Amino acid sequence: MSSQPDSPAFPAQQQEPPGHTGDMTPRPDHGETSYEGSGKLVGRHALVTGGDSGIGRATAIAFAREGADVAISYLPEEEADAQETAQWIEKAGRKAVLLPGDIRDEATAREVVDRAASELGGLDVLVNNAGFQMARRESVEDIATEDLDRVFKTNLYALFWITQQALKHLGEGGAIVNCSSIQAYDPSGTLLDYASTKAAINNFTVNLAAELGPRGIRVNAVAPGPIWTPLQPATQYEEKVQKFGQDTPLGRAGQPAELAPAFVFLASNVTASYVSGTVLGVTGGRAVF
Ligand code: NAD
Ligand code: MG
Repeated sequence: MSSQPDSPAFPAQQQEPPGHTGDMTPRPDHGETSYEGSGKLVGRHALVTGGDSGIGRATAIAFAREGADVAISYLPEEEADAQETAQWIEKAGRKAVLLPGDIRDEATAREVVDRAASELGGLDVLVNNAGFQMARRESVEDIATEDLDRVFKTNLYALFWITQQALKHLGEGGAIVNCSSIQAYDPSGTLLDYASTKAAINNFTVNLAAELGPRGIRVNAVAPGPIWTPLQPATQYEEKVQKFGQDTPLGRAGQPAELAPAFVFLASNVTASYVSGTVLGVTGGRAVF
């Protein structure tokens, strides 16, 4: 994926949200042929929201190879992507639970969690990964209320509802991993609404870690830099897609497969038993402090 600074990183392409993996050129790498587990999540039951594609799919595959059964939530129109993720979970010898539904609706968000816990036989790990952005705009004045609503409902309201509901199931040794962004630290003008939700997620992570520490539940976040997922061609202008990731010190976008080890690290009590209330950057070199 490395390229010269003035040659395009990716072919021009656009999709409509939520975006589908099959329509992307090139196809993202979710670790299908590379991720090797070593028993870091044996016997755990995990829910990954937005686990159909992108970072969520790479996380779901890695969790399964580490020994976890995995439920994934996603939008109904993403069924094909979800089925593919489920096949990878099952190929790893683990149980996959598919939970379509729009988590902007409170009842649906809560039901997703309860169904994950009942179909998995418990819940130990929650990955709040589902998210939405819209970057096809020039200024704060162009942010349509419809977009604002979609961004805040998906990234924050659903996060609160799903976390509240998960606390009815998570016990001592449980872990929550939220998905933040480089946008929380170094925001782009076109993502003013999205960036503010990610800053809020950092605050939520630290605050919740303080509340849940006494219950033996750890809470952390991963802050990705620019990562090649369906969200990008579905929400950025074509010219931006072509240059995507070139402004990082490493000079390229990351692949979803490069995020999964960070989620595994934070979810696992083997590797992160004393890690809580932190945000781990996986940004290609951009600063997260
Ligand atoms: P993605 O499109 O593959 O995943 C996002 C998923 O969120 C979708 O697949 C969808 O299933 C889910 N989702 C969105 N709205 C939903 C709704 N209303 N109901 C149910 N599910 C819904 O893209 P991704 O880049 O892998 O995104 C995963 C997370 O990573 C998001 O939180 C995103 O903000 C974050 N992130 C991505 C990047 C990047 O460059 N790709 C950078 C920083 C942070
Ligand atoms: Mg998707």
